Amino acid sequence: MKKSKEIKLITFDLDDTLWDNMPIITRAEIDTRKYIEERVGKIEWGDLNDFLNLREELIKEDPSIAWDISKLRKEIFRKKLAYVKPQSLRDKIVEEAFTIFINKRHEIQLFDGVENALSELSNKYILGVLTNGNADVYRFDFGKYFKFSISSLEAKNSKPNRAHFDKALEEVENIAFDEIIHIGDHQINDILFASKLGIESLWFNKNNVDWEQEFEKPYEFNSWELLPKIIESRYE
Ligand SMILES: [Mg+2]
Repeated sequence: MKKSKEIKLITFDLDDTLWDNMPIITRAEIDTRKYIEERVGKIEWGDLNDFLNLREELIKEDPSIAWDISKLRKEIFRKKLAYVKPQSLRDKIVEEAFTIFINKRHEIQLFDGVENALSELSNKYILGVLTNGNADVYRFDFGKYFKFSISSLEAKNSKPNRAHFDKALEEVENIAFDEIIHIGDHQINDILFASKLGIESLWFNKNNVDWEQEFEKPYEFNSWELLPKIIESRYE
């Protein structure tokens, strides 16, 4: 499907698109909890349901927690450490724990071919990041390929809502939705996100999973090594 307009901007999801996220977050979580427990003793962290309930409770108290996932994490620590006195000690542990988490969270390993693809594509297109997560690409050398990076914190909203794209339009002069391709792994947060605005997308389907949505599946790829050629053949 050739576009009538020329593609000018390619936006990328980060987690599970540029790197495998689960092992990183798991490790970051384990190390952070270990640090906290070394300071205050055993903590009942609860399961996913407890987490979701706690999240909902926190969002009621402070709606910004819905999109500020760093604040969410800190507030969860604060709740779990509610009994720690004085409050200054609790705050100190929370801040230190978060620092450990966010550092570990950046111990990523790019999928094969990512760096090359970004380098090649950045010669022809403006590249940007649209993420719901709190990884900062500018901590890495490959951050130099991106003109902008918009997280939920900046968008004050989460994909698949359109706020990230509205912010992206502010970053690039004279750009229209049909001059953008969005690339991501998530069927809803990336593909529905783009398709709701008529934005072209490419689905990174590394594990060759089934398409489960009612709307049309976009072109998919499972290796970053193929991406520059795919873009060339489809859009140039
Ligand atoms: Mg993702």
